[in-house]
Amino acid sequence: MMIRNEILTRELIKYCNNINVDLVGFANPKFFNKYRPDNRPQAFLENPKSVIIIGLHLYDLLLDAWSKDEKKNMNYHFADSILVNQCYKIKNFLAKKGFKSKIIPYKPGLYLKDAAAIAGMGPIGKNNLLITEEYGSQVRLRALVTDALLFTGKPIHDNKYCKECEICIKTCPANAFSEGKYNKDVCLEYCQSNLDKLSDRTVLWCNICIECCPISKKVK
Ligand code: SF4
Ligand code: SF4
Repeated sequence: MMIRNEILTRELIKYCNNINVDLVGFANPKFFNKYRPDNRPQAFLENPKSVIIIGLHLYDLLLDAWSKDEKKNMNYHFADSILVNQCYKIKNFLAKKGFKSKIIPYKPGLYLKDAAAIAGMGPIGKNNLLITEEYGSQVRLRALVTDALLFTGKPIHDNKYCKECEICIKTCPANAFSEGKYNKDVCLEYCQSNLDKLSDRTVLWCNICIECCPISKKVK
């Protein structure tokens, strides 16, 4: 039986705190078998032992803005840039201890909120997003896969937050939950035709299902 390294896990959590990671969780790759092969940890690293999920609190909606540099034809997402930078630091931290890790690209990648629920960071709410104890759904996520045998969390299946609440379902301007579950196409179509223009180059996508949730912290 493989023994998971509690001391290394504690050291990594401490390191994550030092580099201002708001949330960190560890998922066991064996729980990803229900996903397509290209959405499993094995698609990114041979013989993966742990998936590290980090979260950034969207304390200001500006962090969730997309900016386009027309000349370079590049898109920047502020929260994601911070998360990727933190991922590189974690990768280096593990490399110095002799472990391989790979930062998982955004697309195709893992289903990040599912990975976070598998890591025990919180359940998936009726808004189809991760709900965390600390920040509700006001988080953006990124992940790395590693051959370090970290102490992994217990998957969360039960949603203790939503109960009878239906605020996000009723508030969604696109009616994306009208069929009893989240409809990605309806949501995307609404978002793309209702971008909130912050400047000529920078836009915000609809965030209403996050902002209206009473569990989520208010964005100031
Ligand atoms: S608004 Fe209510 S139903 Fe929607 S995710 Fe938040 S708690 Fe759950
Ligand atoms: S992002 Fe906006 S359109 Fe999409 S589900 Fe949330 S509230 Fe509805």
